[in-house]
Amino acid sequence: MPKKKLGPMNLYPLLPKTNCGECGPKTCMGFAVQLTERNLGIDQCPPIADPKYQVQLSRIRELLAPPVREVVIGTGPRKVRVGGELVMRRHELRYFNQTAIATLVSDDMLPDQVQAKVKETEAFRYPYIGSTLTLDAIAVRSVTGDPASFRNTVKTVREATELPLILWSFDPRVIAAGLEAAAGHRPLIYAANVENWQEMAGLARDAGCPLALFVPDDIRTIRSLAASVRAAGVEDLLLDVGCGFSESLPSTINDLTEIRTAAVNEGDSLLGYPIIGSPATLWEKRNSESDETIRWMESCLASMMVIRYVDLLMVRDASMWSILPLVVLRANLFNDPRKPVSVEPGLRTFGNPDPDRSPVLITSNFALTYYTVLADIEKLDCYLMVADTEGLSVDSAVAGRKLNAQKVADIILSTGIEGLARHRTLIIPGLAARLKGDIEDATGWDVMVGPRDSAGIPAFLKEKWEGKDHTPGWSYR
Ligand code: SF4
Repeated sequence: MPKKKLGPMNLYPLLPKTNCGECGPKTCMGFAVQLTERNLGIDQCPPIADPKYQVQLSRIRELLAPPVREVVIGTGPRKVRVGGELVMRRHELRYFNQTAIATLVSDDMLPDQVQAKVKETEAFRYPYIGSTLTLDAIAVRSVTGDPASFRNTVKTVREATELPLILWSFDPRVIAAGLEAAAGHRPLIYAANVENWQEMAGLARDAGCPLALFVPDDIRTIRSLAASVRAAGVEDLLLDVGCGFSESLPSTINDLTEIRTAAVNEGDSLLGYPIIGSPATLWEKRNSESDETIRWMESCLASMMVIRYVDLLMVRDASMWSILPLVVLRANLFNDPRKPVSVEPGLRTFGNPDPDRSPVLITSNFALTYYTVLADIEKLDCYLMVADTEGLSVDSAVAGRKLNAQKVADIILSTGIEGLARHRTLIIPGLAARLKGDIEDATGWDVMVGPRDSAGIPAFLKEKWEGKDHTPGWSYR
């Protein structure tokens, strides 16, 4: 049965209705709205943990359960959550758990090759709009078919990283050996198919691990396999319907869409699991293509899969040029479309600012504004206060009163800039010029109106700041 769209009035009657405010919002109705929007979780209402609300709590959890089950792989701080999605299209709410990306090692590699690949995966870090993009897991594949080799490779990986593991073999004996080396670390077992599912389900159930199901190009069969494995006691599943790049690519993309549509729009719980994709298999399907061509194909296929609902990807190539488009695409897809991309407000210092002579500037915390200003001033000696404008650009923030004189006064206090700079002259963006008088009244600082475009800041400082006296009491006119 399709799930009805959840509204606050579905949840409010089940809450304690005491309006105690412990959850953050002042009323239970406010909390119900935040629950519906998934900005807060039910655990943030302490009173509902009282046993007298047990029935209501379990009904709320049922109502909030996403149509795509959330599955945890790994343990500790590096564990990853996949799935847990509520909507088909990002703009309907947002996507929650970004597609995890695992790189591949195999049990025919020498230990130092395995360690180097793990190191390369761990070392992948790319700064992007205030966050750092990284990779998430290591997939260990058995190509020898030898349980002992697989166990040793898994052990080598385990000793080299805390990243979650995927144990990749269709042979239950090999998986059992890998599980011995990864005991207690909740690896994903990849994969059960129509031949091995009973043994694989037994291994997953006994080890308490999630299990991937693999049935290429056949949604009906993977659905019925999910029912059988679930009946065998394994709840945390992932689905793999295979992938191809040439003749089978359209059918792969259609299958991925069909699975997610069935889960989200039709409430089909047997297809309501995260999807796993393995572009890494392109390397073995190659004909006469060069390594560079396969890398390019792998990167393209992985990107297509991220867009078409795949929650976990296994790729072989971890080089920066082929992974970068994928992780940037992922970052943009999984940010919250309801919130402008923003950076932390606060004080930044650049170069070696002189308390008496270096300028103090202010800008908004809209990421695009901040990074543009950053690029224009990072070679100067100066202070920059970043105001919390809720991610709005300067002109929108001024128009919407997210940047006003009181806010500037507050940030002067909260950043402690008066203890760092001894002068009292603030340079505001040209787009906030109309706040000049109000800021002077609210702060007691002199205000200079800077250029409308931050690219003009260096020239502005040269012409209007350098050589001038900015000690307290001095005022630029
Ligand atoms: S903590 Fe719970 S009971 Fe208190 S206001 Fe929030 S939702 Fe209502």
